[in-house]
Order: sequence, then C-alpha cells, then structure tokens
Amino acid sequence: MLLSDDRNEAMRMMAEIESIASDLPGLDCGSCGAPTCMAFAEDIVKNETNADECTVIMREMFHEYLERHKDTTLADAFREFRGRSAKEKDGSSEPDASK
Ligand code: SF4
Repeated sequence: MLLSDDRNEAMRMMAEIESIASDLPGLDCGSCGAPTCMAFAEDIVKNETNADECTVIMREMFHEYLERHKDTTLADAFREFRGRSAKEKDGSSEPDASK
C-alpha cells in the first residue's frame, strides 16, 4: 500500500515504520490485530492504531508497573488505570506522549 503520494513523506514514514518496528517484540503473533509487527508499525505511523494495542508490550509495561509499585494491590492498579483512562477520554488529562 502506498504510504504517501509525496516521495519524501513516504521515505520519512518508512524510516519511522522501521524505527518503531525495531522497538516491537518481533513475535508476529497477531494479537494486536496486525499480521506482523512490521504491519503494526505501519498502522501506528498511519494513525490507524496506538502502540498500546501490542499486548506483549502492554503486558511487559504492566509487570514493570507492578514491580515499581510492589505495595499496590492489583485492584488499586486497575482503579488507577481506569481513572487515567477516564480522564483521557473526557479530555481532562493529556494522554501519555510515549504511547
Ligand atoms: S501484538 Fe505486538 S508482538 Fe504481536 S504482532 Fe502485534 S506488535 Fe507484534
């Protein structure tokens, strides 16, 4: 599929796709809905999905979160995630730019 009619823009997007793909797990498991990690990276660059749709990365992030908050119960963690998500939906909080 054509990334852009503009050759320079297409080249920029291709470089971004390769950069994002290099940070993905490379399992090509399809859990995100894309058939491969490269296809998922392309969907991110085309603003058709968010990086947090990669279930493998989300699982790692959740484990890191629990590791940093060892005194937090799982119920507390879910309440925090749900609260943050609700704030992002109603616009009272900016979403994490690293996503
Ligand atoms: S869920 Fe993550 S590891 Fe699996 S195909 Fe998608 S991007 Fe790759």
